[in-house]
Amino acid sequence: MHGWRIGKLFGISIEIHFTWLIILGLILWMVTGNILPTEVPDASPSELWGIGLITTLMFFGSLVLHELAHSVVANRLGADVSRITLFVFGGVSQMSREPDKPRTEFAIAIVGPLTSVVLGGLFYGLFYWLRAADAPRLWWAASQWVGYINLLLAAFNMLPAFPLDGGRVLRAALWAIWRSLDRATRVASGFGRAFGYTMIVFGFLVALFGGPVSGLWLVALGWLLSSAAAASYQRLQLQQALGSVYVHDLMSSPVATIPADANLDAAAHDYFMAARFTGFGVEDDGTIVGMVRMEDLQRVPREQWQFTTVRGVMSELDPERMTINSDDEAVEALMQMAQNDLGRLLVTDRAGNVIGIISHSDIVRLIKLRSGLGI
Ligand SMILES: [Zn+2]
Repeated sequence: MHGWRIGKLFGISIEIHFTWLIILGLILWMVTGNILPTEVPDASPSELWGIGLITTLMFFGSLVLHELAHSVVANRLGADVSRITLFVFGGVSQMSREPDKPRTEFAIAIVGPLTSVVLGGLFYGLFYWLRAADAPRLWWAASQWVGYINLLLAAFNMLPAFPLDGGRVLRAALWAIWRSLDRATRVASGFGRAFGYTMIVFGFLVALFGGPVSGLWLVALGWLLSSAAAASYQRLQLQQALGSVYVHDLMSSPVATIPADANLDAAAHDYFMAARFTGFGVEDDGTIVGMVRMEDLQRVPREQWQFTTVRGVMSELDPERMTINSDDEAVEALMQMAQNDLGRLLVTDRAGNVIGIISHSDIVRLIKLRSGLGI
């Protein structure tokens, strides 16, 4: 998952996914419209918005530090984390491999919640200090809330629900006892799914009998948690089958393309039949503007083929869904295809230029060969 890069710390670039902006907006709205005015009813709107904004940024900084702690420890212990992406669920440190030992997993997992606990303590300390020093009430109300939210974050993340931090701690423990990463992951992600479903049921009850907003929020979190748990286990199985195979190992390069202005008759005969591919990049003025698949042609009645251009039936290029970096793992490509229901992805270099194409069948063929030959 990629986002907008906002900075770099300890050699790790910090990116924001667009879904995170929604959360940032919600937090700002909640802090300014609800939390601070409850504490300080006589504050003026400009004071509320000013302190609200600072509070929201403190919260944001706390999340970044939590993720950064995971990543820095992971890098110290030999993992290779180069970016952190903040998205709707909090943050993800993009680890390119699974940890190699239970002890490594434990250290990487536990340091995040520990960081949040320390931050919680610091903000509570600031709160007591500001209150004793007779600082404006709005200031200490804000520090108290940031302290509270950090402790809440630590507690939530320590739920033994994989892939949350607590679930990773649990997996590390089971892994150490059973000496099987596969079995430990299966059980830990089972816990993750169970917690997710419980949150969904509980969320519906809260929505029915309490507040609909907090109820639906719980349902959404529960759903995200259970699907993340299922996906992590699936990912581990694929990762074991694929080893460290990267997108650039399996891609075809250069991309076979069709001009955007070609009609479907020409596309069918001169490209699809001639090259016997089922999908092509669509090229306009030297740049790739979309992808066209056999299925896109099938939707148009044959009598219309002569009068329909490839541009009219192609899927327009959506980099977030349809492209993947050549240095990403093949597993990543497979997950992205599954999430977006695509059979192939365009491969880009670091500068974002399309340099190749990778298909689902390329990856599946390798998995078959590996398991068939036991390699
Ligand atoms: Zn964490």
